[in-house]
Amino acid sequence: MNSRSFILSTLVLGPAAAAALGAASTGTPFYGDPPDRTHPWAIHDRNRPQPPRVEPGTPSTQAQPGKPPSDAIVLFDGTAASLAKWESDTKPGTPPEPSKWIVKDGAMECVPKSGYIRTKEQFGDCHLHVEWSAPVKVQGDSQGRGNSGIFLMGLAEVQVLDNYDNPTYADGFAASVYGIAPPLANALRPPGEYQSIDIVFRRPLYRDGKLIDPGYITVFCNGVLVQDHTPLEGPGGHMKRSVARPFPDRGPLKLQDHGNPVRFRNIWYRPLPPRAAEGGTDGALTPEATLAKRKEIAAGLRAAAEKLPAAGTARFLQLAESLVYENESATAARVEQLAAAYVASLKALAGGAVEAKKGEAKSVQRALAYLARHGVVAPSYAPKSDLDAFTKARGWDDEKKK
Ligand code: MG
Repeated sequence: MNSRSFILSTLVLGPAAAAALGAASTGTPFYGDPPDRTHPWAIHDRNRPQPPRVEPGTPSTQAQPGKPPSDAIVLFDGTAASLAKWESDTKPGTPPEPSKWIVKDGAMECVPKSGYIRTKEQFGDCHLHVEWSAPVKVQGDSQGRGNSGIFLMGLAEVQVLDNYDNPTYADGFAASVYGIAPPLANALRPPGEYQSIDIVFRRPLYRDGKLIDPGYITVFCNGVLVQDHTPLEGPGGHMKRSVARPFPDRGPLKLQDHGNPVRFRNIWYRPLPPRAAEGGTDGALTPEATLAKRKEIAAGLRAAAEKLPAAGTARFLQLAESLVYENESATAARVEQLAAAYVASLKALAGGAVEAKKGEAKSVQRALAYLARHGVVAPSYAPKSDLDAFTKARGWDDEKKK
């Protein structure tokens, strides 16, 4: 059942009957606190989209890489064919060249002095998964042992380094944001074993030349949190104090050739949805963005209401619900008219027929109470006063719900 037919069945049949038909309830209108100046959604808003389904992957073992989640975009799966998704990181303006790294035992291995490699694909904010393994033969120390690097958008480096038993400067440690932030812990496995790295990357955002979000990097190394939403101070880098600056919208993922035959496997990413500052509708938005989204939700509810039966209360209640998002004057007038007509129709019923309308009348009463409580209609709203008096006279009052 799609959401449209779900809403239809819920409103026409009521939630209990809709549930009996197998439709899950996504919530009730006129329930939680309404949208406000910076939040387009009500609390427990049934109109808020359901999260997309992602089939989870499987964890990796040392012997075998796990399966990526269903929405992952695979950048390297251990095959020579997937190495073709990468190329040499040649200088801008020069023709592309195939990567000189090699595929060995289901991994891609850096060929020292062959140069950095980059993905042909370009992307921005992401959840990136990478597994790397430093050479079993331990050579060198500090920055010279098992060094490579994961460059997000080709700019900010999450360090790859064999620091299992190898001190170095802290802001150049494995899983550091190089030149910016040491990792919170050394959670490395010995050289030769695969390290499983998950990175959540948000690039810096600027508007009209002004910083509105510094960008953040979160990293888990072998399941241990090692970067906790670390703010970017620019891309970081070697020796020089990093300076905050805009990033492009997209860039390639780059892997570093630092002269060590480091291996990589099971590389995939999932693009992340936009933040509120760039068009997302979850979290606190600007008043302008909130207003625009509220208008859009209201327009959708009004359009859907017209497809509901004119008889009964379904259409009327959905139009009333739209006022919670946008108190549009023509709709408000129509809702008031429909509410007044509804109360009049109740009053016109004979004794036995009135009793049969108790549930319906109380659902309308609850909706009107919600609208009055949250200032969508005036406390003196005539249809509400009339209906309250009507239900009270019949002893239908339910103090808990008022
Ligand atoms: Mg490096």
